[in-house]
Amino acid sequence: MALINENYLKLKAGYLFPEIGRRVREFEQANPEAKIIRMGIGDVTRPLVPSVVKAFHEGVDEMAASASFKGYGPEQGYAFLREAIAANDFQARGVNISADDIFISDGSKCDTGNIQEIFGAANKIAICDPVYPVYADTTVMSGKTGVCMDNGYFENIIYMPCTEANGLLPELPAERPDLIFLCFPNNPTGTVASREVLKTWVDYAIANQSIILYDAAYEAFITDDTIPHSIFEIEGAEKVAIEFRSFSKTAGFTGTRCAFTVIPDGLMAYDSEGNAHKVKPLWMRRQTTKFNGVSYPVQKAAAAIYTEEGKKEVAEVIAYYLENARIMRESLTALGFKVYGGENAPYVWVKTANGLSSWDFFDLLLHKANVVGTPGSGFGPSGEGYFRFSAFADREKVIDAMSRVKAVI
Ligand SMILES: *Cc1c(COP(=O)(O)O)cnc(C)c1O
Repeated sequence: MALINENYLKLKAGYLFPEIGRRVREFEQANPEAKIIRMGIGDVTRPLVPSVVKAFHEGVDEMAASASFKGYGPEQGYAFLREAIAANDFQARGVNISADDIFISDGSKCDTGNIQEIFGAANKIAICDPVYPVYADTTVMSGKTGVCMDNGYFENIIYMPCTEANGLLPELPAERPDLIFLCFPNNPTGTVASREVLKTWVDYAIANQSIILYDAAYEAFITDDTIPHSIFEIEGAEKVAIEFRSFSKTAGFTGTRCAFTVIPDGLMAYDSEGNAHKVKPLWMRRQTTKFNGVSYPVQKAAAAIYTEEGKKEVAEVIAYYLENARIMRESLTALGFKVYGGENAPYVWVKTANGLSSWDFFDLLLHKANVVGTPGSGFGPSGEGYFRFSAFADREKVIDAMSRVKAVI
């Protein structure tokens, strides 16, 4: 008899985005003439920049000629890409990360989920609430939790509510976690962490022999010079943190697929007898067994982001989205909404009008304004009563959406 992994049965039926899709389709079928503006799923809308496209094409041409054809690439990713990352994203900020600490992958979603495999099932995981759903769901899949309780929380996960009361920043948990997921700039709330905030977490992780799993998928949106782009800008973090980065939001690679994970050589975790082991070789072993790398043309395209031209072009795209965020932030504030994020981040997080639930507000905007956003409660119980607007949209649609919202509230 084939037995399933029963942890999957613990997952709540339906994922947030399929439910949004279902409601939008239902509305569209009933109202085929409605012009819907989608600001729901966090997916980019601008095309790849010219330098990236050129390198991508060149990569394909190389694959087409016997002299330059490439089969399986190096296990951690091509050195030209890892070296460009180490130099530009880390060493240029005074951070001592080398190309050897970098693992190229096809996405941060898979990396943040897969990383759980190299940590035992007895680990206690701390996650923010609201949160990017992948951290909680993969924690459940990997067997580290009990069932989902009536309040929407899973047994055996330490939740860190991020609410108005704490400025949407997680507080140090009372119970000691082994692994701590943090994401800044945050999805869904758009909040950022200052150097002081990150230092508190690094010191806490050092004191508790915990590891911080730091998702920096949105670091490219940071324009404030005082906000760290990497957790490794904090002293001591190289002993207690893993960082996840992705070209998805940075350079429009959501459909092209390229990301990377940084595991410093000195990062240690412990066996049941308390002996310390390096984490990096475990991830290397995991990846070389289960993953065969990102295609050469894609890695070549990603490296083009680090050329002078590429940097300039990518910065323009980021500035475009940030301007969208500014427009949303200012329009919604002027309408009387309590607004978070939208600065140094592509997400604007608002308290719903008139105390509506997140889904009621979703339905109101869908039916009356034909605008689709994301209900905050889909990111966790503390997201109830909040709503996320994404800046990943065309400018005229953002402006149109804001005037439609104004007309219905
Ligand atoms: C979009 C996003 C990612 C990137 O995922 P990819 O698999 O690299 O496309 C990672 N973390 C968060 C929080 C995100 O929103």
